[in-house]
Amino acid sequence: MNIRTAVYPGSFDPVTLGHMDIIERSAKAFERLVVLIVENPEKKVSFSLEERRALIEKVTSHMDNVSIDTHRGLLIDYLRGHDYRIIIKGLRAISDFDYEFQMALTNKKLAEEIETMFMMTRAEYAFLSSSVVKIVGPMGGDISGMVPASIKEDILHRLTSLKGEE
Ligand code: ADP
Repeated sequence: MNIRTAVYPGSFDPVTLGHMDIIERSAKAFERLVVLIVENPEKKVSFSLEERRALIEKVTSHMDNVSIDTHRGLLIDYLRGHDYRIIIKGLRAISDFDYEFQMALTNKKLAEEIETMFMMTRAEYAFLSSSVVKIVGPMGGDISGMVPASIKEDILHRLTSLKGEE
């Protein structure tokens, strides 16, 4: 059982500075971190799986112990398949709590050996979400404090082209 690797799952549509903060801190707390892009057929996304992966790759390339993977289906099946045991979740203001509480208890019921660990958001990212970026960006708002500088233009480009498709 591998307890040195943690798995950080999410949609990352797109990756934000809030996600980056959790990635950087988890990568310091564990020997290895897998950022897992989970495909959720019920969630409408703006960035394709490949685009989301490319963006995360660009901003984590300097971190040797961080890798990226994708998964469709139950999260616990991914962990079991790789013999991993730790799920990392970021926790923002109260809004995340109900959902994350429910998910953590469900996963515990489905897989007793897997632990969900929560990392509290940094205060400055408490209200930051991918949704906020997707609302502010296309309307011309400054997303500099929301996403890593190196992918800001890629994100804006994609969001603006989406606006044109509407
Ligand atoms: P979102 O909730 O923005 O759609 P994701 O599904 O990609 O994002 O979230 C993946 C994980 O990252 C979840 O555990 C979520 O709580 C966490 N997370 C998202 N934004 C932040 C943030 N600003 N600070 C801390 N954790 C965050």
